[in-house]
Parts: sequence; structure tokens; C-alpha cells
Amino acid sequence: MNEPGKGHERYAEIRDGVRQLCANFDGEYWRVLDRDRAYPTEFVRALTEAGYLAALIPEAYGGSGLPLSGGAAIMETIQHAGGNGAACHAQMYIMGALLRHGSDAQKAKYLPKIASGALRLQAFGVTEPTSGTDTTSLKTTARREGDHYVVNGQKIWTSRAEHSDLMLLLARTTPKDKAAKRTDGLSVFIVEMGAALGKGLTIRPIRTMMNHSTTEVFFDDLRVPAENLLGEAGKGFRYILSGMNAERVLIAAECVGDAKWFIDKAVAYAKDRIVFDRPIGQNQGVQFPIARAYAQMRAAELMVAEAARLYELGADCGAEANMAKLLAADASWAAAEACVQTHGGFGFAEEYDIERKFRETRLYQVAPISTNLILSYLAEHVLGLPRSY
Ligand SMILES: Cc1cc2nc3c(=O)[nH]c(=O)nc-3n(C[C@H](O)[C@H](O)[C@H](O)COP(=O)(O)OP(=O)(O)OC[C@H]3O[C@@H](n4cnc5c(N)ncnc54)[C@H](O)[C@@H]3O)c2cc1C
Repeated sequence: MNEPGKGHERYAEIRDGVRQLCANFDGEYWRVLDRDRAYPTEFVRALTEAGYLAALIPEAYGGSGLPLSGGAAIMETIQHAGGNGAACHAQMYIMGALLRHGSDAQKAKYLPKIASGALRLQAFGVTEPTSGTDTTSLKTTARREGDHYVVNGQKIWTSRAEHSDLMLLLARTTPKDKAAKRTDGLSVFIVEMGAALGKGLTIRPIRTMMNHSTTEVFFDDLRVPAENLLGEAGKGFRYILSGMNAERVLIAAECVGDAKWFIDKAVAYAKDRIVFDRPIGQNQGVQFPIARAYAQMRAAELMVAEAARLYELGADCGAEANMAKLLAADASWAAAEACVQTHGGFGFAEEYDIERKFRETRLYQVAPISTNLILSYLAEHVLGLPRSY
């Protein structure tokens, strides 16, 4: 793809490094994992050893202290190379909660080990089966008992729980009807999974349409040391929200990378495939959906850059981060659709990887926040329309 501004792209050296690393994990590698619904352990290890997963951890704790846009460049490049960063992207954005709200002791205990790869912080327990997007109605409780909290309840879609040493868990510490506001009374805990498994923590994998290592997690009188409470009790919802803009920007960058992968594939095939004695790409009916997806991808890419710029300035980037996620998820989906259509029947063949990436990128219309909820956010917070729910 002839990318405008490519010669001046930010983080060119990092992108080259990630590309080289990804070249060792080809389509066949991802296909086998997809077939077996297996975790890309070697890929995650390679990324960790090369320091990419610690990109956003400050140097004082063993990371490289890059700004958010550096992390976004890494995630975008993984997707553009045909990989699936969903196996480990959470490490980048969950870590932010620990960094911003953790005590000095918690940061000293966990961050260097996360940076070195000795500990994986990949699991984020927010969503529950009964409350869904209505996070403040979640039912998992954490009751203080001496120097411990006792956790009871259930999470769903807790991705990578089986492959993570630590989980960031959101639970209610004050009942909703006793809290001053519905957003009060929720608290965040760092759960050490190894110690908890079989002692009140049960994990059950959920098989999904793509390889995502997602699970449901059950808490039955799980005892979590009080020292593992993050920040102040009752303020957890704010802590989670404060990390969401970074999460949206990183996932939007992944969608931009997916869109680029689909567009590259579609363009190459449209030039090569001869039907009726001419390349199919000579037909405008084939060109236009690819060109439109390209325009959508570029617009999304600019919004990702703008959201990251505001985030790095410490400015409010809620609208831009949400729009980046919305536009990028739409662009990757449009590009996926155009890519399948351009390939005709071959778009459905496993060995082309298109059907795999098609399934993988579909997720981002729904998670980590669904398109409707982004539109509601824009309607209410940017346009001043009445809250709809
Ligand atoms: C593969 C996968 C991995 C995930 N990983 C994680 C994870 O690691 N940790 C975690 O905590 N969560 C995770 N999630 C959960 C994800 O964030 C939620 O699925 C998502 O936020 C939507 O919530 P829900 O599924 O409960 O949908 P619901 O809240 O039940 O919504 C269903 C539909 O109704 C729409 N809807 C609901 N309310 C409104 C409204 N007021 N106005 C308009 N439309 C509305 C939604 O947009 C959606 O389309 C994951 C989900 C999946 C599928």
C-alpha cells in the first residue's frame, strides 16, 4: 500500500522491530492456534522479551516509558502484520490503572515483574452476565473481614484469565442503594490468580467464534488481602474509567492495523487475479469498496493520532478516544468485508487467513465497548442530547 506520510511515520524504528518479530509468526502459526483455540505463548514471550509489552511502563520500573502513541504503534503493527494482539493487549492498558492509582509498594512489587515478563497482568474482570454494559449494576461483592476482603460473584468474558498471573477485579464494596451515587462503592483489587485458583476462584473457558482465550470466572468466598486494594475503596469505577481512554486508543490502533492488512491483501489480489482476461481490480465495482475502506482507515488513523495526542497532553480525550474506536472498528470491518468480497470464494479458504482475521476484527464492534454505547456517549456528552438510558 502506498501510504501517505509513510516515510515520516512516527516510531519507524519500533514498527520495523515489531514487523521483524512478527515475521517469525506467520499465517500458519496463527492458523494452528485458531484451529486449536490455543494461546500464542511463544508470540507473547517474544514480544515480552523484546520489551514491547512493557512499552508504557516507566523506565524507573523497567519499562521503556513510551507515551500512549508508542504503544498504539506497536499494537497497530502487530495487526498489520497479520497477528492477533488481543492475546496480550490488555497488559498495556490495565497496567495504567496500577501505575496511576497503585500505592508505591504495589507498584514496586508488581511493575518491574510485569516489565520483565515474570508476571503477566492480562486479565480484567469487569463485565458480568446479568448487568452487561450497565457496569455500576454489577453484583460481585467484596466484603471487608479484618485484613482481607472476601469476594463472591461471577464475571464473564474475562479474557486471558487462564494465561495471566494477575487480574484487575472490579467489585462492589458498598451496596448500590447505600452508596451516595451509583458510581460510588465499587473498588478495584489486584488478584493473584495462582494463589486464588482452587481457593475460591474457578475459571471456565468459553469457546468463541475466534481464538480469544476468554472465560467466565467464579468467586466463592475468595480471600484477597486488603493490601491488594487499588487506591481508595469505593472509587474503583473512576479508576477503571480513567483507563478506558487508553484502552480505546490502543484497540482503535489495532483496528487500523487490521484495516491495513485487509486492504493490502485485497489490493494485491485484485491486481493478480485475472477473470475475463483482465485483472479484477480493473473493475470499479471491485476498486471502489477497497478505496472507500482505505479512506475510512485513514480518517480513523488520524483520529487515533489526535486522541493519543490529547491523552499525552493530559487533556480530556473522551470524545476523541471514543470516536477513534468507533471509526477504526468501522474501517476494519469495511476493509474486512471488501477483502472477502474481492477474494470471491478464496476469501473463505482458511489458508488465506482472511476468514480468520474477519472473525477476529468483528469483535471490535462489540468489545470493549459496543458501537451503540459510543454513539450514546457522543450524543449525551458532546452534543448535549438527553441521556437515553
Ligand atoms: C470475546 C470477548 C472478550 C471480552 N473481554 C473482556 C474482558 O477481558 N474483560 C471484561 O470485563 N469484559 C470483556 N468483554 C465484555 C465486553 O466488554 C462486553 O461484551 C461489551 O461491553 C458489551 O456488553 P454485553 O455483552 O453485556 O452486552 P449488553 O450490555 O447486554 O448489550 C447487548 C446489546 O445491546 C446494546 N445496548 C445495551 N444497552 C443499550 C443502550 N442503552 N442503548 C443502545 N444500545 C444498548 C449494546 O450495544 C449491545 O449491542 C469481552 C467480550 C467479548 C465478546
